[in-house]
Amino acid sequence: MDATETPANWRTLAACATADPGLFAAPDSDEGEGLFAKSRREKRAVAVCRFCSVREQCAAFAVANDEKWGVWGGMTEWQLAIRRGQARRAANAERELAS
Ligand code: SF4
Repeated sequence: MDATETPANWRTLAACATADPGLFAAPDSDEGEGLFAKSRREKRAVAVCRFCSVREQCAAFAVANDEKWGVWGGMTEWQLAIRRGQARRAANAERELAS
């Protein structure tokens, strides 16, 4: 399988399909989530991702769709922010080279 397959295809193989969905995104609460609780939740989610066969597709989807919240592709929110920044810089460099 490669990263070009449609989201609908890779999602059927997601390891998180049978996991607690509350692990992968912050609780919907006005009070938010404490840093310690968030870190603990994200570690548990990333542990599920570690054994996921569609991790690359998930990560590529999250970057392509500018996902800012939740665990995607085995990455925490800040790791995903770094990946989005890298992707943006690479795209900018490509555009500059092409012009
Ligand atoms: S990489 Fe993680 S978040 Fe993405 S589909 Fe797999 S288990 Fe779910």
